[in-house]
Amino acid sequence: MGICFGDGGENWPGPKCRRGVTGTGKGYPLRQRCFVAQDSMVCGMKIKTDVVIVGCGVSGLYLALQLPKHLDITIITKSDMKSSDSFLAQGGICVMKDEADYESYFEDTMRAGHYENRAESVDIMLRTSSQVIDTLIGYRVDFEREADGSLKYTREGAHSRPRILFHQDITGEEITSKLLMQVQRLSNVRLLEYTSMIDIVEQDNCCQGILCVHTGASLPGNGGAGDTDASYEQVEIEAAYTVLASGGIGGIYRHSTNFRHLTGDALAICKRHGVRLQDVDYVQIHPTTFYSNVPGRRFLISESVRGEGAVLYNAKGERFVNELLPRDVVTKAVREQMEKDNTEYVMLSMEHIDKEDILGHFPNIYKRCMEEGYDVTREPIPVVPAQHYFMGGIYVDSDSKTTMERLYAVGETSCNGVHGANRLASNSLLESMVFAGRAAQHIQRQQAALEASAQYAAARRKTAPEVEAVKDEESYRALADTYKAMIWDEIERMRAERKK
Ligand SMILES: Cc1cc2nc3c(=O)[nH]c(=O)nc-3n(C[C@H](O)[C@H](O)[C@H](O)COP(=O)(O)OP(=O)(O)OC[C@H]3O[C@@H](n4cnc5c(N)ncnc54)[C@H](O)[C@@H]3O)c2cc1C
Repeated sequence: MGICFGDGGENWPGPKCRRGVTGTGKGYPLRQRCFVAQDSMVCGMKIKTDVVIVGCGVSGLYLALQLPKHLDITIITKSDMKSSDSFLAQGGICVMKDEADYESYFEDTMRAGHYENRAESVDIMLRTSSQVIDTLIGYRVDFEREADGSLKYTREGAHSRPRILFHQDITGEEITSKLLMQVQRLSNVRLLEYTSMIDIVEQDNCCQGILCVHTGASLPGNGGAGDTDASYEQVEIEAAYTVLASGGIGGIYRHSTNFRHLTGDALAICKRHGVRLQDVDYVQIHPTTFYSNVPGRRFLISESVRGEGAVLYNAKGERFVNELLPRDVVTKAVREQMEKDNTEYVMLSMEHIDKEDILGHFPNIYKRCMEEGYDVTREPIPVVPAQHYFMGGIYVDSDSKTTMERLYAVGETSCNGVHGANRLASNSLLESMVFAGRAAQHIQRQQAALEASAQYAAARRKTAPEVEAVKDEESYRALADTYKAMIWDEIERMRAERKK
């Protein structure tokens, strides 16, 4: 299998991309670069593939890399390939340092999660953590090192000891860009940008792929302007296995650190198809994001800044909380303080951190605050809580299988119970990759079914009228609004149920 590259406004399959593609049909316009496996099957507006992965953050990319190379894999992303929350992760990635760290790491994770975590999932994550880190290092991910060359660990709120690996304050970018680079080398993977899943295709509680549309770059959060190539034509991706790796729900909130296009579509789609969801009301608010009253994504001031000694001050310049307590506890204290002081923010000071450490460990935060007019080496900055992470999601078992056959969910959109009611800092990148790896192994074990998939009959669609109606930007936005409303309803319903 080889790779065929197409870019910049070419039609796909177009003249340069047709080599090796079987079947003919209408072009599928792609503005950005795509990777097309030569013996993939493209018929009209239908793509046939072994595994379709919805999302190209760490969970989707890691999964693609762990699947056997003889499988044909299609990854889609709603935006460009670098606009995922995975690229935004600052603080780092946890690892169980050694066997002696097991009990303490386990307890820290459970305590932060209010002991509502699934203990089995936490155990799996801890015991697989060093394997994931070794794999990442194998992909040339560069973690900070001590002078003797050993890995350097930092600490964040609610961790009882340093066990977090990091790369400056852009750990997510370092990891995700290296994963992306590895995926780009694979000839069995095609990656379609600006392609949004609008539904799954199912038959008798068995997932047979997805429906998607090419939205172009002009949608909010998609990073582009002056889009010319959105087709909104529906494309069916028929797949033996479907993996939802579509991230969190921050885009439905007014204030969030997440990309705006992450609106939890996969959850709404699962809800509609009767796939079990769990703890949808468990949403983490980050206590310290840079205060701004301009609409849009909030800039995170990572937990590790507090881990390294930054302190919070009220309007009188007094400390009011232990900054290393779990996020939900610090958030509550900040909100109460804002109410007492009648302010829209509290102040965060890095006065106790050496200037060299700030510039060395947090260069991105330093630069971004400078752009906002604050020199963090000399003065405190205004911070406010904002939506940050989603602990709930699509219920999955320890192999990342949902309650629908051949449908998996990994990363932030899934709920395997690792985080319980509240996530411990820097556990999510790790959890995403550990359970993406397990999904890949499980899919691999279903080899017989995969082979059978080559013959399966055309899937019977079970689509709602609004999905059938999607044909342009207006109808797409109407569907997106319906999905957002469904998630809010579910959050409210679960909150009400919990109060009973
Ligand atoms: C500012 C910030 C800092 C963070 N810092 C840390 C940290 O230090 N350590 C840590 O462990 N975690 C951190 N996190 C959390 C962590 O980054 C995420 O939980 C993790 O990256 C999620 O990965 P993912 O693969 O599940 O989703 P994402 O990386 O969010 O990727 C989601 C993908 O799904 C695609 N998608 C969504 N909907 C659709 C659709 N309908 N159709 C097609 N594609 C779709 C998106 O385009 C995207 O490609 C941070 C998060 C933020 C926002």
